[in-house]
Amino acid sequence: MLIVMKKDATQVEIDQVSQSVIDQGFEAHPMPGAQCTAICVLKNKGAVDANMFSNLPGVREVIRVTKPYKLASIETHPGPTVVEIRGEKIGGNNFTVMAGPCSVETEESMFRNADKLAGMGVKFFRAGAYKPRTGPYSFQGLGEEGLRILEKVRDRTGMGIVTEVMDVETLPLVAGSADILQVGTRNMSNTSLLKQLGKINKPVLLKRGMSASLEELLLAAEYILSGGNHNVMLCERGIRTFSNHSRNTLDVAAVPALRALTHLPIIVDPSHAAGYTYMVPSLCLAGVAAGAHGLIVEAHDDAANAYSDGQQALHPEDMEKLLVQFDMIHKAVNL
Ligand code: PEP
Ligand code: MN
Repeated sequence: MLIVMKKDATQVEIDQVSQSVIDQGFEAHPMPGAQCTAICVLKNKGAVDANMFSNLPGVREVIRVTKPYKLASIETHPGPTVVEIRGEKIGGNNFTVMAGPCSVETEESMFRNADKLAGMGVKFFRAGAYKPRTGPYSFQGLGEEGLRILEKVRDRTGMGIVTEVMDVETLPLVAGSADILQVGTRNMSNTSLLKQLGKINKPVLLKRGMSASLEELLLAAEYILSGGNHNVMLCERGIRTFSNHSRNTLDVAAVPALRALTHLPIIVDPSHAAGYTYMVPSLCLAGVAAGAHGLIVEAHDDAANAYSDGQQALHPEDMEKLLVQFDMIHKAVNL
């Protein structure tokens, strides 16, 4: 249930309504908006009687929320969430590209790639310092040393840093370096990690589990939102299907479906969906045309020697003309 306060409701009235929600044994989650404050009622087991709140001072209306993911739902937050990072806006009518190698490698290689991407206007550099590899003998990432290199990339280029956080133990460390914390597909259901992410204010890019439904993705986001961190972005990165011509299957329809269900920004990762470089440009364009708010793309200027995922990396030079196309398609879609 959502209790929408009047435009001119006072803080005292908002606090009184929150208290009466708590007195009924529920949790109150106030959400200040541009126009007015709304209070989301959480932890109710069944339907709540609207009359308990509709006549309280300052209340405009009480709306039933039908979805189990209350804070992520468009029902409680009809306007888009726009996440602001280092002066860049993600979500709403903005279009954002995040690009970079799969893993953090040598400082020299990161600088080289980051310089190229920054030079073409890319605002966020992606690379994993901690890597959740399928097998234990594959490169596992440089860890802390990788984070130091990413900090240097940010100082050098001004780009924001997107990097993966794999567990609760390393969260403080990774959050100290990252501008956007990526939660990988293998961790979408790591509820201990999601709860901790709710307690900090760092933006989170939550990837869809490779076999997760959209409801499961939105409930995972709800863990973070209900902890108080409203800076959540969702990422469609391909799902497991019977098709074996690509690494995963990009669920393009997830983009319009999510746009109808949630106010959170939606980012498409064409690289892990495709698995092969030659497919990546087409899937990028499909993601933009479907209405994504941004893309996260693996790019490497020496893919043959990449520490991981070289087979799906775009050459930064190939990104340059794509960026122009993204812009054109995004504008056309949002006309
Ligand atoms: C990655 O971004 O390099 C990655 C491991 O992604 P995913 O979690 O989608 O597999
Ligand atoms: Mn990768």
